[in-house]
Amino acid sequence: MKDEPIIVGDLVMVIKPTICCGYGDLMGRPFTVLAIVGAESGPSICKQCGLASSTVDAQEADKRWHDIRTLKKMPPQTELESVDQPEEVCV
Ligand SMILES: [Zn+2]
Repeated sequence: MKDEPIIVGDLVMVIKPTICCGYGDLMGRPFTVLAIVGAESGPSICKQCGLASSTVDAQEADKRWHDIRTLKKMPPQTELESVDQPEEVCV
């Protein structure tokens, strides 16, 4: 499978601790990407250690930034589609 780039509106999940300080409490957290900033638009500040990183980051709803290298794109939510499962009928 090829890695498609994460773009605004994608549902992603945090799969790695922060690269700067290894903060891992957000792992497993799904969120929808509100914005993407590249390194050229200036560093973003880690909320945990205060380190400014000049990487490509994705923003979630509470204005927390995540290095996109710590994120994984989630597949479309197929599980929400109800599959017709006929109930077994005892005759
Ligand atoms: Zn940090």
